[in-house]
Amino acid sequence: MLNTALIPPELAPPEAHPALVLNADFRPLSYYPLSLWGWQDAVKAVFLERVNIVSEYERTVRSPSFEMKLPSVVSLKYYVKPALYPAFTRFNLFLRDHFACQYCGAGNELTFDHLIPRAHGGMTRWDNVVAACAPCNLKKGGKMPRDARMWPAQKPYRPTVHELHKNGRAFPPNYLHESWLDYLYWDIELEA
Ligand SMILES: [Zn+2]
Repeated sequence: MLNTALIPPELAPPEAHPALVLNADFRPLSYYPLSLWGWQDAVKAVFLERVNIVSEYERTVRSPSFEMKLPSVVSLKYYVKPALYPAFTRFNLFLRDHFACQYCGAGNELTFDHLIPRAHGGMTRWDNVVAACAPCNLKKGGKMPRDARMWPAQKPYRPTVHELHKNGRAFPPNYLHESWLDYLYWDIELEA
C-alpha cells in the first residue's frame, strides 16, 4: 500500500517526503488535488512560523547549524476559508462524472466532450463539458446533441467541493502516508 515502506527511511530521498497540509481546523486544505507541499516548502513554512508540525517522518535533514525531522503533516496557524468550488481540472471533471462516459457508461478511454461543440460557440466550462469515451466522442464529433441524438446521462454542472468529496470516496489517491490517514476520510475505504 505505501510505496516507500520498503525503503529504509534514512535512504529515501527527501523528495519522497511530501507534507500533508491541514487548515487550522485540521482538515486538509484541499482534497482535489490533495494539499501536499514538497519538503522544502514545508520546512520553510515551519521556519517562517506559518505552520505547526503535526506529525513527522523518520527522515531528517541536516545543515551545519540545525537538524530536523521532515514534517509529514503540518497545520496552518491561521484558518483559510476553503474554496466552495473545485478547480476545473481533468481529474475533477472525471470525478464529477464518476469516471464514466456520459453517453454509454463506459469507464475506459475517457476523453472530454463539449456538449455544445466549440464550433457552435460552446465554452470549455463545467456546464458544457462531459466525460465521454473515445468512440462516443468520435460518434458525436462536432454535432449538436439533437443532431447527433446523443444526450449525456446528467446535465453538466459546476459541482461544489462537497459534492466532489462524496464522489471521491471511491477514488483515493495512489499514495497515502500512514500519518495522513487520521486527517483524511479515505482511511475508511482503505480499511474496508
Ligand atoms: Zn461512450
